[in-house]
Amino acid sequence: MAQMHEIKGWCPTAYRPMATGDGLLLRLTPKRIGLSPQQLVAIAETSLEFGNGQIDLTQRANLQIRGIDPDHYSKALTSLIKRGLLGSEEASEYPANILISPLSSLEKNTRLTARGLADELNKLLLQNKLTEYLPSKFLFCINDCTRLSLYSVKSDILIDLSEEGKTSLILANDYQNPIFIEHQDCLASVIELIKRFLELSKQNNFIFRRMHSLIEKIGINAFLKPLNLKTTLLNKEFKPKKDAYLGLISFNDNHFIGVSGPSGAWKAEQLRSFAQILVQHKFQNLQLTPWRSFLIPIYDFRQRLRLLEEINQLNLITRQDDPRLALIACPGAPKCSQAYGNTEEVLEKFSSYASFFSSPKEIIVHISGCTKGCVKGDPTPLTITLTDQGYNLIKNGRADNKALYQSRTLDELDHYVKNNLNILEPL
Ligand code: SF4
Repeated sequence: MAQMHEIKGWCPTAYRPMATGDGLLLRLTPKRIGLSPQQLVAIAETSLEFGNGQIDLTQRANLQIRGIDPDHYSKALTSLIKRGLLGSEEASEYPANILISPLSSLEKNTRLTARGLADELNKLLLQNKLTEYLPSKFLFCINDCTRLSLYSVKSDILIDLSEEGKTSLILANDYQNPIFIEHQDCLASVIELIKRFLELSKQNNFIFRRMHSLIEKIGINAFLKPLNLKTTLLNKEFKPKKDAYLGLISFNDNHFIGVSGPSGAWKAEQLRSFAQILVQHKFQNLQLTPWRSFLIPIYDFRQRLRLLEEINQLNLITRQDDPRLALIACPGAPKCSQAYGNTEEVLEKFSSYASFFSSPKEIIVHISGCTKGCVKGDPTPLTITLTDQGYNLIKNGRADNKALYQSRTLDELDHYVKNNLNILEPL
């Protein structure tokens, strides 16, 4: 039976930090222009001075400083304000969750960019006082580029501008049923959709926190009925694919290097060294991606190999076939107060099996500190869930599914896997 979980109804920000198992968690939402290497140095130093030296990149392209002692919180905040990472008032933080294409505005012929539209949407949401009612997990995506598209991200409303001359709205990732609209009506239609979502959500005692659950319950046609919007059923099946986001990325004569840390986690010293390399090479702004990685624009193509070599010395991930990408772990204990143990030691143990993974492009092992499965809600070839009894090993399932094998200790679990290597095969 699944464990009971505390449902947190809000997302942390810098001004509203969240108390977690390892202290306060402070989330930074970088402005859409990205972050400079100097700002990254400042984040790393703030973490070293006031936090526990752990920094996460999130699936919503945010950055989190962990383990801040509550007594040092206001000093940490002042340090971030002083270094230009935050405005001096809470209202200066971006209120809505809006993700834009990491390569926004690089698609040739695109008249309008996701960046500009995101700012307009943000303004409209504020004007209509909608941000205060929207569930904090509600996510808008604006896609204006065919490369590194946002189709693989779980969004509530996706505005798609990537096809020349077409604007469509996709609800709850239902790519088979887009709503085609005139571009000038795009934002007004989004506001209508949100109002409808909120009205239905209110009628149902706010149990619907995402568009997915609401549409699953009532169907897309019933949802759209009172609005002047309709879907068009596409004949062709659409399978969202995730482009390579690490290593060298080239698109329309623009070049980038994608870099990530294992499971999106960075040590502050490592982040500072990474940022210092970029400062030395005179790099400007980096983008964060929803794949928990950084995207560094490369203006001198010859520089790329030297840069990659230097970054690789920090033991970071710069190749799409790096076997560490086949593993994902939630923060676990002590970072999360709901965790039954330390997920990092399980991650380390299972990293030693990386050479057995037949497809490092897919996630093969999901490690979850409890049955909630925060970082991966869909089935994985192998899931290890920590429980009050030890470790559950689940084959082709989610963190809350029935275990194929249970062990009290990590060594027992390791012994079992060593003798059953076939369980590391993909789904
Ligand atoms: S899945 Fe991990 S992060 Fe989520 S509540 Fe459980 S232990 Fe915490």
